[in-house]
Amino acid sequence: METNDKKHASNPSGKSRKITCSFCGRELSGREPAVQGSGNAILCMQCSQLAGKYFEEYRREYGGGIKSKAEMLKLKEPQVIKHFLDQYVIGQDEAKKVLSVAVYNHYKRLNYWAEHQEEPETEIEKSNILMVGPTGTGKTLLVRSIARLLDVPFCIADATVLTEAGYVGEDVDSILSRLLQAADFDVTKTERGIIFIDEIDKIARKSSNPSITRDVSGEGVQQALLKLLEGTEALVPPQGGRKHPNAEMVKINTRHILFIGGGSFDGIERNISSRLNRMAIGYKKDNERTRTGEDEILRYVAPQDLRAYGLIPELVGRFPVLTHLEELDRDALRSILTEPKNALVRQYRKLFEMDGVALEFEPAVYDFIVDKALEFKLGARGLRGIMEAMMTDLMYKIPSEKPRSYVVTLGYVREHFGKTVAEKLKNS
Ligand code: ADP
Repeated sequence: METNDKKHASNPSGKSRKITCSFCGRELSGREPAVQGSGNAILCMQCSQLAGKYFEEYRREYGGGIKSKAEMLKLKEPQVIKHFLDQYVIGQDEAKKVLSVAVYNHYKRLNYWAEHQEEPETEIEKSNILMVGPTGTGKTLLVRSIARLLDVPFCIADATVLTEAGYVGEDVDSILSRLLQAADFDVTKTERGIIFIDEIDKIARKSSNPSITRDVSGEGVQQALLKLLEGTEALVPPQGGRKHPNAEMVKINTRHILFIGGGSFDGIERNISSRLNRMAIGYKKDNERTRTGEDEILRYVAPQDLRAYGLIPELVGRFPVLTHLEELDRDALRSILTEPKNALVRQYRKLFEMDGVALEFEPAVYDFIVDKALEFKLGARGLRGIMEAMMTDLMYKIPSEKPRSYVVTLGYVREHFGKTVAEKLKNS
């Protein structure tokens, strides 16, 4: 049995004392995790997993759980989903609408299944979603927000670390272990969760010529993902990682797991424009790409462009819903600082309020931060770093000085955005 420090820490036996499972009578090694009950009763992990499985099956067979539509999942209409997303994500209207509709349809299909235990006569296709858009424009944030609204488990899988089963790296089934963990090992919850496959563009076929050497982290992974996306029963080790011959496996059906892929697909504009038979992107005099040109083209992205980019047709087919995200302009970045429910500025205000200090910012400060994010090409992701760098000194001083209010001025941030911060950001 695999062990690690965390599991070891849960071992009530201490470091060396031998203990026996009160249920199966097996003697446990000092590093095996176990649960201690009253009267020194000990339950080993294998027995607890067995018991868990039994109760899970019992619940499926006899319990209320997923028997009726109402109990299954409270459906949120597309407009409700979109309205919720508007509170956290700036712009990206097109992606929000497409996502809201796809998610609504997905869970409608799932609820039908829960009620009837079969597909409707007119089979409804699974609505896995693929999002194409520059990095740091809100793809992960959108998916995370939807999962929170629906209260379903959610995990992010980084496609770049996935490899075919049997090769060094994580095989695709490990994604399910992560979702299972996010669902607190509740299989029913896991089976209606959301998996975000980030950087899916990085598993594009490296070249259009199939080569003799195997492409274990590119096309091989795409092939391995197919089954998972479509719906399969996979046996996964509950603790993730590589499969261990003796580890207890948990059966997970992916039929109703919603897969959302995301990637920047750098350069896909060329595929789109050559299909549309028009100039790839506008070029300025100094040969700088104009973002507006790229953005405009991205909105025409179609499945055939993904195939031309290096995704195999079968994989593209498993993502019937395709949408794009736009590059965030200056206005959007400024809004991100102040408008979302958990906007950075609101978070700092709250932190200071807890010390009894009313924090204000001169509006010019926001423009300064946005300018720096653009200057260092950090996008929305950089806003936090810049803000943090500027606020550290204040957060150090204010709790002791406790003024009733404090206004962060442009002069202050200019002074504190010294060379060291700039260097730090360059290297971040
Ligand atoms: P992506 O997945 O597209 O690379 P993320 O969703 O991880 O980008 O965005 C990184 C961070 O930048 C988010 O956590 C959020 O703070 C901020 N951000 C990005 N896009 C937006 C947006 N449209 N609205 C609000 N915040 C955003």
